[in-house]
Amino acid sequence: MKDESVINAISIDVEGFVESNRESFHVDAKYIDPDRENDEIKKNTAACLELLEEAGVKATFFIVGRIAYDIPEVVKQIADAGHEIGCHNYEHVRLFSTNKKEFAEKITIAKAKLEDVSGRRVFGYRAPEFSITSKTLWAVDALKETGFVYDSSVCPAGMHDVYGIENAEPVIHRFENGLIEFPMATTVVIGKRIPFGGGGYFRLYPLWLTKYFLSKCNKDEEPCMFYIHPYEIGPEIPKIRELSAYRKFRHYFHCKNGGKRVKKFLKNTHFASTVEVLRNEGYIEDMNVHE
Ligand SMILES: [Zn+2]
Repeated sequence: MKDESVINAISIDVEGFVESNRESFHVDAKYIDPDRENDEIKKNTAACLELLEEAGVKATFFIVGRIAYDIPEVVKQIADAGHEIGCHNYEHVRLFSTNKKEFAEKITIAKAKLEDVSGRRVFGYRAPEFSITSKTLWAVDALKETGFVYDSSVCPAGMHDVYGIENAEPVIHRFENGLIEFPMATTVVIGKRIPFGGGGYFRLYPLWLTKYFLSKCNKDEEPCMFYIHPYEIGPEIPKIRELSAYRKFRHYFHCKNGGKRVKKFLKNTHFASTVEVLRNEGYIEDMNVHE
C-alpha cells in the first residue's frame, strides 16, 4: 500500500577519502596508510551515526566489503543503530577493469561477510563511482544472480567525466531481469538532465537549489536518492597537498561544514533507508532491514 507522501532515500557510501579518490587523481605513496584510513572511517562514520540519530532518520549504508574484514566493529555499529546495510563492492574500484565472472565472485564474498558481521540481510548494491554504465551493464545480471534485490549505481545523466548513462530511466524502475534500479537523483534544467543527488553536487550547489530540485521531483511524486560520504560529514579528511587548485575545490569544498549542511537539508523533508522507500513505492512488500 503506497503512503500518501513521497519518501526520499538517504545513503552513505562508507569508504576512506584516499580509497574513494585514488582513481580520480594521483595519490602519492606517502598518503596511502590503511591504518590511518580505517581510523578516519571509524571517526567519520561515528559522526554520521550521531547526525542521523539527532535527525531521527534511518539511512542505507553502502559499505565497501573489505571494511567488514578490516574494521567489522563499524559495520556492527551501523546495524545496531537500525540502519540498512548495503554493499559498495568488495574493493573501492570502478567496474570498468573487471568482468562479470570476477565481479560476481567478489560481490558474493562482500555480501556474505557484510551479512555475517551485521547479522542483517543485504538487499542493495552501489558500484564505486556509479560505474554501472552502458559499458558495464553485465553487472545487472550478476547482481540478480548473486541475490541482490536492488541496485543504486546508475546516474541517468551524461555530464560527468567518469559515469552516467545519458538516456537511462531517471526514476525507480526494474531492469528486464527483475532487479530494481533506484538511480541517483537528477532533474531537468533548460532541457538538460543534471545530477543533484549528493557527493560533489551537494557540496557545490547552494543548499536552496538542492532543496528546490528535490521539491520539484517530489511534487511529481518522484522519490529521490541522495548519497554522502563519511569524510564529507566527520572531522577527519587527509590533505593531499599536491592536488591542483581545481581538484582541491572539487574534492574538499564544503567538506568541513558538511555535517551542518546535511542536518539542514534533512530538516522538514521525509528521508528513510532505500528499502523503506521501495516498500513505500510498492516495489517490495515483505522485506525489512532487520531481517
Ligand atoms: Zn564510493
